[in-house]
Amino acid sequence: MPRTLITGGAGFLGSHLCDRFIAEGHEVICMDNFITGNPDNVAHLIGHPRFSLIKHDVTNFIYVPGDLDYVLHFASPASPIDYLKYPIQTLKVGALGTHKALGLAKAKNARFFLASTSEVYGDPLVHPQHESYWGNVNPVGMRGVYDEAKRFAEAMTMAYQRYHSIETRIIRIFNTYGPRMRLDDGRALPTFMGQALRDEPITVFGDGSQTRSFCYVDDLVEGIYRLLLSGYPDPCNIGNPDEITILDFANEIIDLTGSSSRIAFKPLPADDPKIRQPDITTAREVLQWEPRVNRREGLRRTLDFVRRKVESKPSSVEMP
Ligand code: NAD
Ligand code: UDP
Repeated sequence: MPRTLITGGAGFLGSHLCDRFIAEGHEVICMDNFITGNPDNVAHLIGHPRFSLIKHDVTNFIYVPGDLDYVLHFASPASPIDYLKYPIQTLKVGALGTHKALGLAKAKNARFFLASTSEVYGDPLVHPQHESYWGNVNPVGMRGVYDEAKRFAEAMTMAYQRYHSIETRIIRIFNTYGPRMRLDDGRALPTFMGQALRDEPITVFGDGSQTRSFCYVDDLVEGIYRLLLSGYPDPCNIGNPDEITILDFANEIIDLTGSSSRIAFKPLPADDPKIRQPDITTAREVLQWEPRVNRREGLRRTLDFVRRKVESKPSSVEMP
């Protein structure tokens, strides 16, 4: 039975990975300090004979008794308002946390898997973004704490691969959405859905002409699983290339919910990327992977979750 550690396992993506790896027959150790995640995300797994949950900050030495086959490093604040609220913790988990997780993988002779991000491309000057593009990142801007931490994490991962000969995989995740996102994480999708369901103004930043390409979580998890088991040692984009402006996205959510919300334009945050679309040629060729869930279906599935959350918490979405 494979034994797998998932750091950040109580977060949005980490909790879906816990589900997938349990379903694949792994023993799963979920490690999290709950800074942006919540044990509720994995509450349904508590008591499962192959699941354990450990509260630990992975910027400190990580102790796991016994063998490990896989170390998946997903711990990190991930939404812009989270990493602006926790800038030092974000830098530390990307740098020190990645180092500790790599050290653990080396000690256990386990395969290491890094959750990197499309943010390594910054505000891109090449479109769509292929893995060969080195990016356009402002290291001292507000997003620098996240982008540079992930760029460092990639460099550290490649160094361990080259100098310690450990097996590593790097995924560059593009905007992913689905159930278990926090309604107050400030990302466009949960914010817009919460606002639409309450008939509150939809806060579009800038003129809404900036683009994103949204991937449903089940597609991402399938891509992660395939990349982990593949022999591909270099960074690999996973995301849905179906690109949309944020203004069109807001209107799509208004239509889907039947809301009477209007659009309220707000200032564009500094360094907000103007365009983003993954080039998924590598994933198609190496993993035979491509997204299966279109945005209409993914939004519908996510709306069911958000609606339940909003109904259980009638007051306005609280921004941290
Ligand atoms: P999330 O905030 O829901 O999950 C991150 C988890 O990491 C949380 O449970 C948090 O408590 C935990 N964590 C943070 N610092 C920690 C530390 N020092 N020690 C232990 N646990 C810690 O965010 P998410 O959207 O699930 O993102 C998960 C990973 O995927 C992150 O590494 C993020 O950078 C990456 N990613 C996500 C997206 C996306 O669209 N969701 C896009 C690109 C990259
Ligand atoms: N955005 C917005 N209103 C919001 C939240 C986000 O217009 O209330 C915009 C944001 O400026 C960005 C896009 O939506 O251009 C996606 O933002 P998100 O935080 O979801 O992801 P990221 O910027 O990290 O891609």
